Amino acid sequence: MKTAVIGGGIMGNGIAQLAAMAGDEVALRDVSDEKLDVARAAIEKSLGRFVKKERIDEAGAAEALGRIEFTTSVEAAASGADTLVEAVPEILGLKQEVLGEAVSFAPDTALIGTNTSQLSITSIASALGDAAPRLIGTHFFNPPVMMRLLELVVGLQTAESEIERAREFGVRLGKEVVVCRKDSPGFITSRAYAILRLECLRMLEEGVATAEDIDKALKLGFNFPMGPLELGDMNGLDTYLHALEGLTEAHGDRFAPTVGLKNMVSANRLGRKTGAGFYEYD
Ligand code: NAD
Repeated sequence: MKTAVIGGGIMGNGIAQLAAMAGDEVALRDVSDEKLDVARAAIEKSLGRFVKKERIDEAGAAEALGRIEFTTSVEAAASGADTLVEAVPEILGLKQEVLGEAVSFAPDTALIGTNTSQLSITSIASALGDAAPRLIGTHFFNPPVMMRLLELVVGLQTAESEIERAREFGVRLGKEVVVCRKDSPGFITSRAYAILRLECLRMLEEGVATAEDIDKALKLGFNFPMGPLELGDMNGLDTYLHALEGLTEAHGDRFAPTVGLKNMVSANRLGRKTGAGFYEYD
């Protein structure tokens, strides 16, 4: 099996690692060698953690890494792929362009997944012509190698056969799979969680409690493994802002981002990846 992953950021490098650990030949495409070096380093570090926890041995980790081709060529990545997963930033036009190009090089039987958090699968598919029935939302969670859920999202044109293929792909990668049968922005998970985190952000901005106490309250009160604000820092506040803007367009003002969040993104306080968000990082 060959899996092509387009976009080697937080999600893409994790999905590539998962597929390699499942025994697939993987091609990971990003826009520059610098980006690919960062992706490779993240995968090496993560595999090292798996070795430390004795969930894989050294040889297995080296073999998994060896199965990943890091490339800037879309053609090299997509050629011969059984499954193609896109994980570029959450911008509709970009996803359409990237997938349109990748699909032109992939076999016309390839399953096509888009790792969007909340964009319409049907809108993304509108740029894919005859390949539209093969597109399905493959919403992995961060970090993909640890989180158990894969949320599949069915577009208006997605073929029933592809839902089953995507389910098999997810199970092969070790995931529990749920299916969002209606292509509704935010799907099941992002829609529910966005409202929860937005309310935490409003409380923070109103001075109701500190970030630490808001996170602690939700962790201990509801048994969440992480607080919504610290999770926001981990996922990237720019990604979160994009998500809220899209949800507002789809479902109305109850999802409108706060001024405070917009200011944080303008000030490049994007969370862990820039060293500061709701919290400070070394
Ligand atoms: P990211 O910014 O970490 O990574 C995106 C990568 O795509 C970057 O490395 C960038 O260089 C690359 N890229 C941009 N244009 C490209 C192109 N034309 N071809 C190939 N690569 C290109 O973003 P991320 O957090 O990995 O998010 C990717 C997608 O996954 C988004 O749609 C996001 O909404 C979704 N998602 C993110 C999370 C999360 O927690 N971060 C969770 C679930 C889903």
